[in-house]
Amino acid sequence: MSKGTLIIISGPSGSGKDTVMKELFKLMPELKFSISSVSRAMREGEVQGEKYNFISRDEFLKMIENNDLLEYNEYCGNFYGTPIKPVNDCIENGQEILLELDVNGAYNVRKKCNDCFSIFIMPPSFEALKARLVSRGTETAEAIEKRLKAAKDEIERAGEYDYIVVNNVLSETVADIATIIKSERMKSDRVSVTL
Ligand code: 5GP
Repeated sequence: MSKGTLIIISGPSGSGKDTVMKELFKLMPELKFSISSVSRAMREGEVQGEKYNFISRDEFLKMIENNDLLEYNEYCGNFYGTPIKPVNDCIENGQEILLELDVNGAYNVRKKCNDCFSIFIMPPSFEALKARLVSRGTETAEAIEKRLKAAKDEIERAGEYDYIVVNNVLSETVADIATIIKSERMKSDRVSVTL
């Protein structure tokens, strides 16, 4: 059986990537999603086990100690990590699994995996990103400041990615990402040719 592919998606907080991904999964339901373990508090509207498994800092440290994570990073004071087993299972089953990671996590996964590609979702402008973060109303003013600073650092590293998609119009962003995924599927080293 052919091995699966890791698809890394990053984008600063406020780039609209959650909405983009929701729409992408509607369009491409065959894609799997890696549910991250995180030590941050659950936001209003978030559901345990949907996008994240919310765990304590101690539980997270145990996962690190037990080598249960493919990668992890501390972002704005909280731990975020990718459990390794579901990723390995998808790869073994020849499936595509989407990993939403910050830039450091993306860097670490790229170094480890031999069949992956990465997409950076860029906000249309810094002002748009700030406006989204503020209007979301899920973070304190201090947390927003931290995230804006992190966003600047992340945008500076967008060139590390295979693709950059500017999230101007949601439907176009989703269609562009679907096109990238479909094109990647047709790469000659992923297609086994038999007549
Ligand atoms: P948020 O708190 O806004 O949900 O996520 C903060 C940042 O953590 C985002 O950039 C998001 O992409 C990133 N992130 C989410 N899950 C993971 C993960 O498993 N590993 C890493 N390294 N970053 C993650």
